[in-house]
Amino acid sequence: MIPFNKPYITGKELAYIEDAVASGKLSGNGKYTRLAQTFFEEKYQIKKTLLTTSCTDALEMAAILIGIEPGDEVIIPSYTFVSTANAFVLRGAKIVFADSRSDHPGVDEESLKSLITDKTKAIVPVHYAGVACDMDMIMDLASEHNLFVIEDAAQAVDSYYTSRSGKKLPLGSIGHLATFSFHETKNISSGEGGLLAINDEQFVHRAEIIWEKGTNRASFFRGEINKYGWVDIGSSFLPSEITAAFLWAQLEHLSEIQLKRILIWNRYNAHFSQKLESFGVQCPKIPSYADNNAHMYYIITKDGRQRDFILKRMKESGILAVFHYLSLHKSEYFHNCHDGRDLAFSDLYSDRLIRLPFFIELTVEQVDQISQTLLDILAEYEN
Ligand SMILES: *Cc1c(COP(=O)(O)O)cnc(C)c1O
Repeated sequence: MIPFNKPYITGKELAYIEDAVASGKLSGNGKYTRLAQTFFEEKYQIKKTLLTTSCTDALEMAAILIGIEPGDEVIIPSYTFVSTANAFVLRGAKIVFADSRSDHPGVDEESLKSLITDKTKAIVPVHYAGVACDMDMIMDLASEHNLFVIEDAAQAVDSYYTSRSGKKLPLGSIGHLATFSFHETKNISSGEGGLLAINDEQFVHRAEIIWEKGTNRASFFRGEINKYGWVDIGSSFLPSEITAAFLWAQLEHLSEIQLKRILIWNRYNAHFSQKLESFGVQCPKIPSYADNNAHMYYIITKDGRQRDFILKRMKESGILAVFHYLSLHKSEYFHNCHDGRDLAFSDLYSDRLIRLPFFIELTVEQVDQISQTLLDILAEYEN
């Protein structure tokens, strides 16, 4: 069986964990945490970063930082992972779900303006498959209406957006805040893990307090104050040095990981780009302003029936291809809270999107085999 995902180990992870153990400092905010944070701050021009135990936690920190209160509205695409919405629901926000684009599962930027009311506090664009949303449009809208933008960059490590001025901006460096994930299914992994990126200076000081259970302990350890105490709300959002040491080994190999993933992505795409259309199936489309960080390779089938047939036959052929999100506005938890707007493209991707196996150790032969199997199944379905 070719699995859908297989965590990649660069080789240095255990040595760095051993080093962390030998140092006698295993709780958070030590040497490896600082190495990982500095890496992101320098490489991606982010003002301040904080490692977290997950992207979910980073999103929860973001919701606290922008001061979400009951009744505040937050605009989020319906086609996303539950954590994008849950973080704000936990603070009492009312979620207003937006539809996806017709050419891409990312949020339909054009639809956002009509969703803004005088209660709207934030927009949370999700860079689906690591492909940038139109950030100029979103940031302009946000500044016009005095809203915060939190990029859910969970899938978007090492991906870029080319702004209207022609400047290439790293995803996660554009919104007031941004969040990354190092879950084992992401390009860079620490099993579970995440990072909060802070681009708006006003949040830097408080973020560190929320991160350390609502205490000013980080300032204390830097010697800025002579005792630490409870100064705000917060939680234990920081990962241990064991997690950070694992992550550091991965970050050191980022370029090599990305090169390999891009090779796999391009090889899939070369197999499919001319051939899928005749079966009514679409390859991923990448807007001209977005880079491709090769987070995933997906296809859009012509309908749900064709999708289910492909998934079943792929599995019978020993290949684990999978669908992805189900529209959150129709979820068991939320459907009664939704205002009834039809979010047709979110539903379309829920019904028709298939993700193909994607991990570093996939060989060229396996990519060829998966691609050929898919083309054979599509031909079989036509008959
Ligand atoms: C993976 C993912 C998350 C959650 O990340 P965790 O680190 O598992 O909490 C949130 N949003 C999106 C878009 C994701 O892909």
